[in-house]
Amino acid sequence: MSKRKDSCSFCGRSGVPLFEGLDGACICPDCIEQGHLLIAEENKKKEKRQAGTDFSLGSLPKPQQIKDFLDQYVIGQDEAKRYLSVAVYNHYKRLALVEGAAVPGQAQAYKDVEIEKSNIIMVGPTGTGKTLIARTIAKMLTVPFTIVDATVLTEAGYVGEDVESILTRLYQEADCDLKKTERGIVFIDEIDKIARKSDNPSITRDVSGEGVQQAMLKLLEGSVVNVPPKGGRKHPEQEFVHINTQNILFICGGAFDGIERKIAQRLNTQVVGFEATQKAQVIDKDNLLQYVAPQDLKAYGLIPEIIGRLPILTYLQPLDRASLRNILTEPKNAITRQYQKLLSLDGVELTFEPEALDYIVDKAIEYKLGARGLRSLTETVMMDLMYEIPSQHVSRFTVTRALAEEKISRADTNRIRNAV
Ligand code: ADP
Repeated sequence: MSKRKDSCSFCGRSGVPLFEGLDGACICPDCIEQGHLLIAEENKKKEKRQAGTDFSLGSLPKPQQIKDFLDQYVIGQDEAKRYLSVAVYNHYKRLALVEGAAVPGQAQAYKDVEIEKSNIIMVGPTGTGKTLIARTIAKMLTVPFTIVDATVLTEAGYVGEDVESILTRLYQEADCDLKKTERGIVFIDEIDKIARKSDNPSITRDVSGEGVQQAMLKLLEGSVVNVPPKGGRKHPEQEFVHINTQNILFICGGAFDGIERKIAQRLNTQVVGFEATQKAQVIDKDNLLQYVAPQDLKAYGLIPEIIGRLPILTYLQPLDRASLRNILTEPKNAITRQYQKLLSLDGVELTFEPEALDYIVDKAIEYKLGARGLRSLTETVMMDLMYEIPSQHVSRFTVTRALAEEKISRADTNRIRNAV
């Protein structure tokens, strides 16, 4: 095909100034301009993605995508994962609206409807994946994310950390960018530890319980909070950043040990009377946590205002044998895979006999160590091997049940327990 040098190879126009390329292709100034705009737009998008400020609706991960991602790392806990995925997606959508992202035609009809944020509370026994879910979500997020431990917080003026320190952490996580901070997500772990200590709040001052809840309320409900940017206690001469928490999403997690009793009490009182026998039949007494309701959190010692600000309540299941077994091998960064990768760097192909893994699970259950115990037990088995194998010049190594038994039986059980 002969090349025409009198027209633009892109738009086909002739009679315009043309720039000729090496192979005879030509481009007109308009097309150069057009291309330049496209590239600039693309670069801007890339920058926004990197800066975590691209909230255009089309580019948001959908709840199913978020859950698929979680599935790669977290075994079971489907309900919690679904709740979290939807909450995070909605959080992004709110941000898209705040940022003024283009809204599809249908949504125009609802332009006066304000979407309120839905903070979340997850209730579940320790070691069932609350923090893991939060951390995994953080991996795929493009907004700043921080995990704080509620046990270190105390009311202002007492030994411990001010509640505002939560925002300091987020601010630092956002590279001290106020705008980014105000879109972040905070995971508050061990929220049950700030439950009211006694039913009668007037006996003594409850500086790490109800006092902290009151202080936290301000953050959860969305207000402008003065935060010392470098942390530490507030003092009058200090400079503050003013962080608006309106669009910050709070996810709380707690084990709420013993909350099953409160749930049982409530269910018992509910089922007395009409339809009692029918309802009693469907209650799964072995897993009462699935019936957890806001009133149980109140009975446990959270103040109603806090509960009202955490409208999404979800629970995590205790992990059964099958889940524990899966945790050893299935997640993308399962502990056994980590060892396999480490030894692959020495050119060694490491395999675990299924019976060896069954044994590790049995021991985790026997010692009541839960999922955290899987790691310390596997480490106990692998410790000497990781020392010896790299010097053995072998290309394959199999961890047998006999080997696992030998290593674990020789180990100090207390040390394994303490490592959890
Ligand atoms: P908690 O519920 O107390 O926050 P974590 O999320 O910290 O528990 O769990 C402790 C460890 O146990 C995790 O780092 C992970 O290795 C393992 N684990 C717990 N639950 C799960 C799960 N559902 N799927 C995969 N691993 C899990």
